[in-house]
Amino acid sequence: MDPGWKMYQERRKSMEDHYPPSLKRISEETAFYLSKNSDQTQIFSLYKSILATQIAYLDKIHVSVTLPEEQLKNNFRNKKFVLSSQKLDIDNEIFKGVMSSICQAIKKESPMAPDPLLRLSLAEEFSKGNIDGFLNSIALLNKDELINFIETNEMDKRTGLDSEIIAFVIFMSLSPFYSALMKEVLKKTDFAIWRQGYCPICSQAATIAQHRKDDGARVLECWLCHARWIFPRMECPYCHNTDQKTLRFFYVSGDKARQVHVCEKCKKYLKTIDSKVLGRDVLLGVEAIGTAYLDQLAEKEGYRPPSRAAIDIKKGAR
Ligand SMILES: [Zn+2]
Ligand SMILES: [Zn+2]
Repeated sequence: MDPGWKMYQERRKSMEDHYPPSLKRISEETAFYLSKNSDQTQIFSLYKSILATQIAYLDKIHVSVTLPEEQLKNNFRNKKFVLSSQKLDIDNEIFKGVMSSICQAIKKESPMAPDPLLRLSLAEEFSKGNIDGFLNSIALLNKDELINFIETNEMDKRTGLDSEIIAFVIFMSLSPFYSALMKEVLKKTDFAIWRQGYCPICSQAATIAQHRKDDGARVLECWLCHARWIFPRMECPYCHNTDQKTLRFFYVSGDKARQVHVCEKCKKYLKTIDSKVLGRDVLLGVEAIGTAYLDQLAEKEGYRPPSRAAIDIKKGAR
């Protein structure tokens, strides 16, 4: 086989078949971090446990993509993400099943987690008559918007849980549905045309990227549905600034591969793993947790995480 073609096929496969990763691979990747810092044992156990729950449900979820291939491509050309033009039918029973399992996983891995977590799925939002309306209202919210929604509707007060925990559980329970949709879309078309800093499926802003080991291409990944797409390295994914004098990156000495790329124009940052420097491609879900120190550093330097920008970005897309 022509080596160029073989490489192309392999790259295409790595863009499409990356999710879900095997549990073995996840354990290997987290072991690397734990060998450096055992303080993260609990958070990685929790991460693995939630991911295992999501993966177990993925096969039970059946969603369909209503738009034909040409329409999807046209939308991508016009910066329109998939869920801006189609609704996702979420099976209420499966959703509640995922949610209960995730709450149990959290309680098991962190016994200090509040007890009302185990009763979250009994909240009135998730009752038969309310759940569809609830899922519709929150479908495209980013983290800050969802927390705000929960507090406005006093869901936190009624359930006795912190709004951040409720938002986290909801996102983690939606994730397998969005991933299922992402995988269905990939059967029709890839994301080669997509050139935005937010996700082509669910519109969440990408918060982490990696420079691919093979060719150094910058691959962004959505933390919610796990879509992956390529974005030019010399451009800010959030404001599209290409002035190289205002784009730079920094890292903590001793770990050149784990970088923070910042834009002086919009003051946002993107955590980036340089897999070429590292010599191997990584799992961005694991890296996102392991590099929490880079978030602290970036914010201390006056940069903002991209999630807070999602409202403006989405308005521009609609
Ligand atoms: Zn997404
Ligand atoms: Zn920017």
